[in-house]
Amino acid sequence: MAQVAVMSPNGEVKKIDRDSEDSLNALRQVAALMLKAALVHKYDGIRFGDAIAEDDRFWVDSDKDDQQVSADELPALEDDLKKLAKEDDKVEFAEVALDDALKGVEKDQFSSELLKENAKDGKVALYKLGDVAVIAKAPILVYTDAVKNFKLLSVAGAYWKGMSSNPMLQRIYGTVFYKKADLDEDLKKRQEARERDHRVIGNQLDLFFVDPKVGAGLPYWMPKGATIRRTIERYIIDREVADGYEHVYTPVLMNVDAYKTSGHWAHYRDDMFPPMDMGDGEMLELRPMNCPSHIQIYKHHIRSYRDLPLRIAELGMMHRYEKSGALSGLQRVREMTLNDGHTFVALDQIRDEFAKILKLIMSVYKDFDITDYSFRLSLRDPKNTKKYYANDEMWEKSQKLLKAAMDDLHLDYYEAEGEAAFYGPKLDIQTKTALGNDETMSTIQLDFMLPDRFGLTYMGKDGKEHMPVMIHRGVVGTMERFVAYLTEIYKGAFPTWLAPEQVHIIPVSDDKHGAYADQLAKEMKAAKIRVVVDHRNEKMGYKIREAQTQKVPYTLVVGDDEMKNNSVSVRKYGEQDQNSMSKQDFMDEILHDIATYSRK
Ligand code: ATP
Ligand code: ZN
Repeated sequence: MAQVAVMSPNGEVKKIDRDSEDSLNALRQVAALMLKAALVHKYDGIRFGDAIAEDDRFWVDSDKDDQQVSADELPALEDDLKKLAKEDDKVEFAEVALDDALKGVEKDQFSSELLKENAKDGKVALYKLGDVAVIAKAPILVYTDAVKNFKLLSVAGAYWKGMSSNPMLQRIYGTVFYKKADLDEDLKKRQEARERDHRVIGNQLDLFFVDPKVGAGLPYWMPKGATIRRTIERYIIDREVADGYEHVYTPVLMNVDAYKTSGHWAHYRDDMFPPMDMGDGEMLELRPMNCPSHIQIYKHHIRSYRDLPLRIAELGMMHRYEKSGALSGLQRVREMTLNDGHTFVALDQIRDEFAKILKLIMSVYKDFDITDYSFRLSLRDPKNTKKYYANDEMWEKSQKLLKAAMDDLHLDYYEAEGEAAFYGPKLDIQTKTALGNDETMSTIQLDFMLPDRFGLTYMGKDGKEHMPVMIHRGVVGTMERFVAYLTEIYKGAFPTWLAPEQVHIIPVSDDKHGAYADQLAKEMKAAKIRVVVDHRNEKMGYKIREAQTQKVPYTLVVGDDEMKNNSVSVRKYGEQDQNSMSKQDFMDEILHDIATYSRK
């Protein structure tokens, strides 16, 4: 097996298997050092943040007085890197007195700060390539000639130390492999991920935007994105109402005392927006969860066993103060609307209710054509039970109960100890994002704690007061994350029932056929089909192409023949053929498509 020489941050060199993940990371690390060297040689007075390997790539942060490095300059930098690789250079280890190290970087406040932070006993450990150095933190490949199959991927702004109050540096990302075939595969995967990236598609299709100047993590839903969201919201409300849920509206603001009672104030405060002091002693909080709100609905009436299971649902808007570095398109935001629901049950109803919720979730997945998911049973960490609501009997019982319910349904699941909520065990349904990351889409959580804290009761058959169990459940999660997810799995080609524009009608000549197109559109609109007539004075080929770029499921072309025969010429998204159909047949087909959530 091929071996490569890798240096540790203490200067020791050893040989390791070239095909290992460690060796690939060491290769990325040396590529980062070389990129830094290329930048040093190219731009006078350039300053540097980190130059490191991270995840599946490497990057270098830099800052210049004049114009920042732009994407156009990447090919020239790649050439410089290639030259460096041919020089047959070697990384040297050096332990340098901090004062000496600082001498070379007086004008670079970032490098100076990094050196100071990483100094130990007045010394810093460095990897050096000629006169260019980086701080020795992770293992690095010793010889530079292995950096042959690489690509500089992109340039992006990155705040110094990831904090938005700091200056913004310029980050150049790159990827590198030992073998050309591996690089090619990696680039293909990245391209694929970019094509699916909901932020890119969201922009192309004009679905939403986020502008940090008016609020980071606070999305604006454009008409098309809003149409998709509204369609999902109507769908899910209808499904839940049919399943016995009572839909409510509750305020996004709540007295902070409620969150003190619920425990969120103690456990979740870092993720909450700071409370608003109203000046008269009242403190209001933007809710990070809807549970305490639904508890108020429960408590508003005296409940008896006949009311249970009581299912309260809401598309509840909530706010969470996510870190600015974690925000991403619609996938992670600070204002979100959760498809939330809480059912209040008696102990002996848990099993049936759990199964009922799970069936609803799976049926919803079917309609959205979500097939890649797995069940994770999130249990208490048996070695650290102190972290959780203290009631051993409740934990034992409820964990067993969930397993039994899964077995009843003949569903495979894996157990994840330590993933339970602090108030109870849960079933998480894990999906995969386009980038291959695991994400919790749906969740069913048992909770014995909140009913206790809020003193919830119901009158039992026996005439005595009992405490209900609360089940928190989300079917499609937040509208934001769900739309991001759908955009990626569909690559923006939403099935007809969700597509913001379902039919695009193009008259061959607007003068002659425009009125017929309008008449068609009127009939379709009456049947609740979302249709646009393209009256613009553009070439037909252009209009057809644009409808395809916008991923409209059906494009209709209408000319003399269609007008005469009361027909339409239909082109489906992604297909080249054009089919002539009677108007009625077309309407029947699309309405059937919509009614069956078809994804053809
Ligand atoms: P995460 O671990 O992703 O932060 P969480 O475990 O805190 O999520 P829950 O409190 O269970 O999530 O929230 C319920 C649902 O809300 C999640 O399944 C997810 O769909 C969604 N969600 C949570 N945080 C965000 C966010 N910042 N932006 C968009 N959706 C979110
Ligand atoms: Zn809840």
